[in-house]
Amino acid sequence: MFSPGAARSVERRYALEVFPKRDITLVEGRGAEVHDDRGRRYIDCVAGIGVASIGHGNRAVAEALSSQARRIVTCPGIFYNDTRARLLEKLASIAPPGLTRGFLCNSGAESVEAAIKFARLATGRPGVVSAMRGFHGRTLGALSATHKKEYRQAFEPLVPGFSFVPFNRPGKLLDAVGEETAAVVIEPVQGEGGIRPASAEFLQAAREACDDAGALLVFDEIQTGFCRTGRMFACEHHEVTPDMLCLAKAIAGGVPLGAVLANGRIRPPPGKHGTTFGGNPLVCAAALAAIEFMQEERLDERAAALGARFRERFEPRLPRRVRALRQVGLMIGVELRERCRPHIDALAKAGVLALPAGTTVIRLLPPLVIKEEQIDEVVEVLVRVLGLPGRTK
Ligand SMILES: *Cc1c(COP(=O)(O)O)cnc(C)c1O
Repeated sequence: MFSPGAARSVERRYALEVFPKRDITLVEGRGAEVHDDRGRRYIDCVAGIGVASIGHGNRAVAEALSSQARRIVTCPGIFYNDTRARLLEKLASIAPPGLTRGFLCNSGAESVEAAIKFARLATGRPGVVSAMRGFHGRTLGALSATHKKEYRQAFEPLVPGFSFVPFNRPGKLLDAVGEETAAVVIEPVQGEGGIRPASAEFLQAAREACDDAGALLVFDEIQTGFCRTGRMFACEHHEVTPDMLCLAKAIAGGVPLGAVLANGRIRPPPGKHGTTFGGNPLVCAAALAAIEFMQEERLDERAAALGARFRERFEPRLPRRVRALRQVGLMIGVELRERCRPHIDALAKAGVLALPAGTTVIRLLPPLVIKEEQIDEVVEVLVRVLGLPGRTK
């Protein structure tokens, strides 16, 4: 084991500096809490960026991993496997209506990549329409569907055929989808873009536009999926069903897994797409345990109830520098009138880990197993830290 501070200096020496680093070394977690290498405790509203919904150190996942690791870890998609079969059946049983077939991969970006390729295969068209402020991942295809200039610019030219419409403008979306469009790719609640829920009208317009043009509707529920918003999937709030659903993050309790769930319109012929690690029995065992845990513990209802508790307690006490509170279940955005970065650092010093979403929004994605007292503590810390005097515009 490293002494306190040592992991930081070793990482700084040997890792490529891809990430804007926070000066905290996390070494352990239990439920909604994590500990750093100095023994400090934090309430973890980062949760691996919305990954650790069933909590850190989840026993069911640890046991599933260890027993599967003793049986068989790897089994490529060219063979069948019992654990993978059980996971695919489980995913079909919780999926929105008709999305009964799945493709398993290793990350969110890979699931978006796969959905784009499947849409081009199914329609024979090149076009992909997505929303401004949307985020779909960092690989070149997923990045092509991602609007943010800072993420894209250095890597251009990106994939041709991609275009953007303003979020929550149904008319613009209807205009943009046509006979060249393979897919419309949308987050039902934009995460990275600042916790912005899509309106029912926007999602319905997306469904209509796709149906009229013969295009496929893809919902990116990588961040919103698996109970985060108070339903198993966020699209259930509006009863709009996509043709494909992209999933990852919370799907396997923190073990890397991505998935595309698709309806009968998507039938990629064998040999056109693939993956070495995707859907290996080890991660499938973890995902099965994680999803069963979510179902047994009713984490959908828990996210809705605790999200409401958070709002009830925080909204009447909003500090002046807060411009808006946006929230669906335990997907929470606190938009400030100023840059959020210094406040995120101050929150960490006060024992609450939070994420930025853009320059002014503090994003909270706590584990859905977070306790009532811990939610209340998060509110207390937010009120105190964001209420401190200092520069406000
Ligand atoms: C995190 C995220 C992705 C990318 O997932 P990775 O696993 O980081 O590739 C894509 N879309 C949304 C909505 C996300 O939140």
